[in-house]
Amino acid sequence: KKTLRFILGDQLNHKHSWFQEKNEDVIYFMAETLQETSYVKHHIQKVVAYFLSMRNFAKELQKDGHQVIYYQIDDQNNEQDLPSNLNKIIEQEHIEHFEYLFPDEYRLDIKLKTFCNKLEITSEAYDTEHFYTQREDIEKFFEGKKEMTMEYFYRDMRKKQGIMMLDDKKPEGGKWNYDKSNRKKWTGKPEVPEAKTFDKNIEEVLKQIKAMDIKTMGRIDQDHFPWPTSREECLEVLDYFCKNLLIHFGDYEDALHTDQKFLFHSRLSFAMNSKMLSPKEVLETTLDYYYEHKEDIDISQIEGFVRQILGWREFMRGIYWKEMPGYKSKNELGNTNKLPEFYWTGETDMNCLKYAVNQSLDEAYAHHIQRLMIIGNFALLTMTDPDEVDAWYLGVYIDAIEWAELTNTRGMSQFADGGIVATKPYVSSGSYINKMGNYCKSCKYSVSKKEGEDACPFNNLYWNFLHEKQEHFKNNQRMNMMMSLLKKMNKDTLNKHINRSKEIINNPDNF
Ligand code: FAD
Ligand code: SF4
Repeated sequence: KKTLRFILGDQLNHKHSWFQEKNEDVIYFMAETLQETSYVKHHIQKVVAYFLSMRNFAKELQKDGHQVIYYQIDDQNNEQDLPSNLNKIIEQEHIEHFEYLFPDEYRLDIKLKTFCNKLEITSEAYDTEHFYTQREDIEKFFEGKKEMTMEYFYRDMRKKQGIMMLDDKKPEGGKWNYDKSNRKKWTGKPEVPEAKTFDKNIEEVLKQIKAMDIKTMGRIDQDHFPWPTSREECLEVLDYFCKNLLIHFGDYEDALHTDQKFLFHSRLSFAMNSKMLSPKEVLETTLDYYYEHKEDIDISQIEGFVRQILGWREFMRGIYWKEMPGYKSKNELGNTNKLPEFYWTGETDMNCLKYAVNQSLDEAYAHHIQRLMIIGNFALLTMTDPDEVDAWYLGVYIDAIEWAELTNTRGMSQFADGGIVATKPYVSSGSYINKMGNYCKSCKYSVSKKEGEDACPFNNLYWNFLHEKQEHFKNNQRMNMMMSLLKKMNKDTLNKHINRSKEIINNPDNF
């Protein structure tokens, strides 16, 4: 049967069984579409990275002898949306059978199912062969449990996959989790190696994006595009991580610094989320390197890395599929404020936000603690509408695909799911930000001050938030200590926090 196989932009898995044999009756189809560039305003680097990676992937398939139809964004035949493009090709090529890979995004899952239901030819969907777990595994694992705790899932994954295990039951090193040793502040040492980047010509693709009037956010350096856009380049980033960064990965995972945008983070999320690298090969390669260099690399470094990929990444994806579609509109704290304008411009005097937001706009990247404890923390403390927060996060980061973005942003960071992902909201005053980095040293505001015009805004917002949302937290045991401190707070002090917070929330762009 003449078959059409459709590949989405984040399904660039070179090792998929589809590609292991050539078949003259099979045509692969890929397309860059305005539908996918406009469901949210994406960072310009994200659009470039996806277009280039898709183009490279299609070229490699062709080189391997597969038949490929590829529509660039400005191709005259491009209908710019998925069903119209597919219908056209099915007709043109006299296709008798249609196949696709299960999308990781709910929106596309529904779109493709609906499309197939209307088709007059037969169709079938296949696994992407990327993740360790299946969509429904989390639901099964936590069946009958009151809470879904990542740590239990992670331990089970370690056992099931036999990763860092002494035998079937005992973890290597005697401990499952070295999270407590992953919290060092970076103060100039050890030296951070230069980030691995690439030099490639992006002039043509930029011209096409402009000509097609695609609305984007963020900034791009024409002469220096840093992201890997082929499997070979992704493997280089992985190799670079093992040889240069793994050694201190865990120690400085939560650190913040004005001179260091990436510290010892791997920057592998785009390579994995586009599926050019699989989580399995990332962990196998990193673990091999660790075992060969065990005398130099502490177990806490590799365990921290394994936990992020085998634990958090799979967990978040599982939660997404368990909770969608309802998850996307959850707003348990009833937050409705607008996102400050400075999220789009970087113009603010709050130094931590200035650095973290500008870095996001410059690089399409911020590491986890910048996303969670600076940018997300401020959005939650100012009680921003989670829809607005999501739209920003889904656009700005190179790795932002809904299954990872939504669970991290609406769930972990904004607590809008009421505690499905996190057991308590990730909010803090300025002291946490000061503890983990040096942003406060050169800030207009004083992190130690709680009153007055130069007090750190986070210090007021924190208590105002707890006061405002106290009903929501009254039965949350993990909030007991903070809520009892709030109760004991002198009325006058609390009122000062509330009044200053009003000023900040009404006019965040003045701060
Ligand atoms: P590293 O620090 O080197 O970690 C290694 C890998 O672990 C990452 O590449 C990633 O694949 C995985 N990982 C670590 N933490 C998580 C997590 N919480 N969820 C899923 N995977 C994780 N990650 C995304 O991939 N896409 C997103 O859209 C996204 N949005 C986020 C939004 C918020 C508010 C927060 C707090 C986190 C978000 N994350 C997201 C998770 C995490 O911040 C990024 O995966 C990470 O910063 C990517 O950089 P890295 O590759 O250098 O990560
Ligand atoms: Fe951020 Fe407050 Fe520190 Fe300034 S003083 S960098 S606003 S935490």
